[in-house]
Amino acid sequence: MAAARVLARGVRLGSYSIGRSRSLIFNNVQGRGIAASSIGLTDEQKEFQKVAFDFAANEMAPHMAEWDLKEIFPVEAMRKAAQLGFGGIYVNPDVGGSGLSRLDTSIIFEALSTGCVSTTAYIIISSLVIYNRCTNIFQVGWNSQPTRAVIFEDCAVPVTNRLGAEGDGFNIAMKGLNGGRINIASCSLGAAHASVLLARDHMCVRKQFGETLSNSQFLQFKLAEMATKLVASRLLVRQAAVALQEGRPEAVSLCSMAKLFVTDECFSICNQALQIHGGYGYLKDYAVQQYVRDIRVHQILEGTNEVMRMIIARSLLTES
Ligand SMILES: Cc1cc2nc3c(=O)[nH]c(=O)nc-3n(C[C@H](O)[C@H](O)[C@H](O)COP(=O)(O)OP(=O)(O)OC[C@H]3O[C@@H](n4cnc5c(N)ncnc54)[C@H](O)[C@@H]3O)c2cc1C
Repeated sequence: MAAARVLARGVRLGSYSIGRSRSLIFNNVQGRGIAASSIGLTDEQKEFQKVAFDFAANEMAPHMAEWDLKEIFPVEAMRKAAQLGFGGIYVNPDVGGSGLSRLDTSIIFEALSTGCVSTTAYIIISSLVIYNRCTNIFQVGWNSQPTRAVIFEDCAVPVTNRLGAEGDGFNIAMKGLNGGRINIASCSLGAAHASVLLARDHMCVRKQFGETLSNSQFLQFKLAEMATKLVASRLLVRQAAVALQEGRPEAVSLCSMAKLFVTDECFSICNQALQIHGGYGYLKDYAVQQYVRDIRVHQILEGTNEVMRMIIARSLLTES
């Protein structure tokens, strides 16, 4: 029944079969446990969240290391994601999108990014990327998507191609950024969620000084702080998504707060997870380092986190 409603709203489940996760990373990542991400969701949201988690586990996670190392742009995985309706999630159905809400979108992006942050981020921002013949830029992370500088030189645009009225361009672009900030924050959530579980699992198997790391109260406290920051971050993202969907006046500030807080806290969670892995965390054999590298840029783009502070402070100072 729930699946039928999802289909009716445009998310195409297609012939995708929900299989058992092939990746250790995804043991218990879906919905269960104290870091659970499905609390408070409707049946319909849980339904497409599960599809996204399974897609992440089966189609992305097994390949994320190879895509990163060899800088592979995963066209086939993108096509499969598009077939499921993950290409234009909040785009209106009359122009080919799935017509879901900002909150629905956040739930999906969070789940997908547990499988590969870089590829999910490409799905998020693909509408902004324009290719030209500039050389590929080599980056710390986000290696499954080619990034190039776009240079407009003597670029004349016919008036008939203009969107909106003359002079409105900056405001239209800024409106697009609010949703982008929620999306990028959602992507950080997925990386942080996966990293908490990786750290926990490592603590349970790694023995030092005659006992597993999980017996160290210091590391237990670190793990507890990571999980708490994760759950708090998720609440903020979801509140901002609802505010944006409802067109509330405080939406701009809330989106900025979500972007600032969540990308900072989730980077700190992933970095702490790497620390808990010790020297192993610095090896490319371990997924945790990739989450750290891939979400570092989230503190820089879609407006730097310093700019987020400016926006929030300006709103506070002008509302009185
Ligand atoms: C992988 C990647 C993909 C990108 N994709 C896109 C894209 O698709 N489209 C696009 O338009 N852009 C894109 N960008 C560019 C990105 O938006 C910018 O890098 C970002 O906005 C920061 O601008 P900047 O690099 O010029 O830093 P600068 O403006 O040089 O700032 C440097 C530092 O100083 C801080 N700073 C600057 N001024 C102040 C101030 N007054 N007070 C306090 N701090 C300040 C900044 O916050 C930053 O930390 C991308 C960047 C990367 C790395």
